[in-house]
Amino acid sequence: MSPVIDPELIRRYDAPGPRYTSYPTARHFQKGVTEAVFCESVAFSNEDPIPSDLSLYLHLPFCRRPCFYCGCTRIITHHAPRVSSYLDQLHQEIALQGAEISRDRVVRQLHLGGGTPTYLTDTELESLMGAIRKSFTLDEGPDREFGIEVDPRTVDANRLAHFLALGFNRVSFGIQDLDRTVQLAINRVQDPDHTLMLVEQAQAFGFASVNVDLLYGLPGQSLEHFQTTIQSVLKVHPGRIALYGYAHLPEQFSFQRQIPSTALPDAHARIALFLMAFERFTSSGYHPIGMDHFARDGDMLLNAARDGSLQRNFQGYSTHAGLDSVALGLSAISRIGTLYAQNTKDEADYLACLRAGHLPIRMGYRLNADDVIRADVIERIMCHEEVDGDAVEKRHRIRFRDYFASTLGHLKDLEHDGLVELTGNRLILKPTGQILRRIIAARFDAYRPQEDRSGHYSRMI
Ligand code: SF4
Repeated sequence: MSPVIDPELIRRYDAPGPRYTSYPTARHFQKGVTEAVFCESVAFSNEDPIPSDLSLYLHLPFCRRPCFYCGCTRIITHHAPRVSSYLDQLHQEIALQGAEISRDRVVRQLHLGGGTPTYLTDTELESLMGAIRKSFTLDEGPDREFGIEVDPRTVDANRLAHFLALGFNRVSFGIQDLDRTVQLAINRVQDPDHTLMLVEQAQAFGFASVNVDLLYGLPGQSLEHFQTTIQSVLKVHPGRIALYGYAHLPEQFSFQRQIPSTALPDAHARIALFLMAFERFTSSGYHPIGMDHFARDGDMLLNAARDGSLQRNFQGYSTHAGLDSVALGLSAISRIGTLYAQNTKDEADYLACLRAGHLPIRMGYRLNADDVIRADVIERIMCHEEVDGDAVEKRHRIRFRDYFASTLGHLKDLEHDGLVELTGNRLILKPTGQILRRIIAARFDAYRPQEDRSGHYSRMI
């Protein structure tokens, strides 16, 4: 049965805000976190009596043409030598990072994101995986979560089989919308039949997790045609669906200036698109997870949501708790214990730094004691249906009600509107509150009141 959602409340609370893939958000990162600071943190974490296992992320920024909605760090090129130069230095970065990290720390999660990881040839991907295996200890068991983002325009069944042979057990297909008018408006034309066939083939090949990404709020998108896209997707039964709202921030992302704001659905239409999709998914056997995912029974992410191990990270949601995250490539962000460390976003700087034998870390943030507590609570809000204050007290040796007295006092409007319920030491997110969880999380964000709210963040819906 679909949860009961109040559209009027969604309309009232729909405003820009962080997605909390980290806390504090990356906007608070500062210069001063250097290679030396990062390596010191890694060495310290290696010495832990039971060091954390690892999540490894590689950023592959290349794409052949720009999707106009894109907000990623990506390089549009057809120039093979440019790609080769990047891959040479990415191999160097893998070797340098691998030398820092103790080999008894096992990589439980591996994610290739972009850009377009499948821009690379099979040979390039094989070589990359070989380099990773040479420098890190990979989990080769069934519980590993090794994923690759797939642009259907670059892949066929043979390539899918190759990804499986390389050790990937999770694929994520970028679909966005199958409607031709929308595809033309976003400069991303892909054949619906081919795309849907790949989703079916990936499942037939035995990938443990098959995800598709959809995007609402795109130019020219209508309720009727988006519903057709959703029906087509539901027919091929992906285990997981990510439903993102398009964030129109043309001041930040130059290609978005190709999309006239007059072509975009207005706020009411966006909410209608979201609610229609939400209803279609939940009435078709999918369970909502976090702020933007839906999964069928048996999906790893749903299992993690149910057993409390669901995590928020820079890739969205993940399943393994307590991992340190090592991220490689342009703009990639690592987290080791309480340290965030971000690579340069500048391609020339990235290449030069690695050619000189150094990790290209340029920014970051060291969490203080208050950040650690708030990050924990915000992650619970972003991932789960409640925050158990007793558990927070045990983890951080605080009194939940006392520590957050001011914040909890500022939840009265949310309580009054039925978005949350505060019972004893438990903060419960009601069904509409689960959709608006970003605004609940923002109430626990110590930096939020000082933030510039003029156009840096996407709307809640
Ligand atoms: S949306 Fe993906 S494929 Fe399109 S330009 Fe951005 S990174 Fe490349």
